[in-house]
Amino acid sequence: MRTITVEEHFITPAFLAGPGKHFMNRFRDSGPAGAVIVDRLTDLGDKRVAEMDAAGIDMQVVSLNAPGVEQAEPDEAVACARESNDWLAEAIKKHPTRFAGFASLATQAPDKAADELERCVRKLGFKGANINGHTRGRYLDDKFFAPILTRAEALDVPIYLHPTAPAKPVLDALYGGFSPAVTAVFSTGAWGWHIETAVHLLRLVLAGVFDRHPKLQICIGHMGEAIPFMLERTNRVLPPQLTKLARPVADYLRQNVHYTFGGFNFTPTFLNLLLEIGVDRIMFSADYPYGSMAEARSFLQHLPVSEADRERIAHGNAERLLRL
Ligand code: ZN
Repeated sequence: MRTITVEEHFITPAFLAGPGKHFMNRFRDSGPAGAVIVDRLTDLGDKRVAEMDAAGIDMQVVSLNAPGVEQAEPDEAVACARESNDWLAEAIKKHPTRFAGFASLATQAPDKAADELERCVRKLGFKGANINGHTRGRYLDDKFFAPILTRAEALDVPIYLHPTAPAKPVLDALYGGFSPAVTAVFSTGAWGWHIETAVHLLRLVLAGVFDRHPKLQICIGHMGEAIPFMLERTNRVLPPQLTKLARPVADYLRQNVHYTFGGFNFTPTFLNLLLEIGVDRIMFSADYPYGSMAEARSFLQHLPVSEADRERIAHGNAERLLRL
């Protein structure tokens, strides 16, 4: 069975020296486990391929690690995105059957970001873009970002909406009042990243983004960032009479969004996603190097689904969406 994972990360020299410096240094200084993560992120070559072979992963669709360039100054973001995309293209060239890429975009400069997306898709063969949440507190439903969404729709490539930490006022109001260590994890991997991403996606729906861009496809990770759990409720209490949208909220979540594992190797969470969204929009991923490829592969193997559905999740849906 071919296996394609679609939320997998790397870092580049430009990112390490620029927008990723603070985040990655903190990680590296956090101890041996953090240092291993940073080391794995820097390699997009033979070492990673050997790890993929050992875990039974055929292909990774990779994206620049969060926080990406989205929180940087516009000029720095434009330069770092371009350098990182070129770096990634070179790595893919060496292992074209093992890696595919999502573009990094300087969302602060939407027209330039749209052009960079087109360059990445048409010239470098990338499969879409990865956007790390809000851009300094602004979300993608803001008309400011419309050029990026318009171009993604025209190119017929998805945008992977990856988590990032909440903006400072949200972080302080919702996640403050604990030890710095607890706040740091509560506001990110334990809760904040995921809920932040779910709210971001719902903002896209409620702002009518998918009425304006009916062909636009968004991907989210982590078994749907809690969206499946809330889907029926949100759909009922926000009907079209209230939202003035063309369709019920659930329709957009079932027709304009794809969902990936992202290290959430939890069967009840998977079943919730499967029952609410359906098998055709679920894609395998490991969230490497934060999640274990071997563990994700084993989880996939033991999912309580038919072999035909396992194939859809393992590779078929990604092949269709990303033309792999
Ligand atoms: Zn990730």
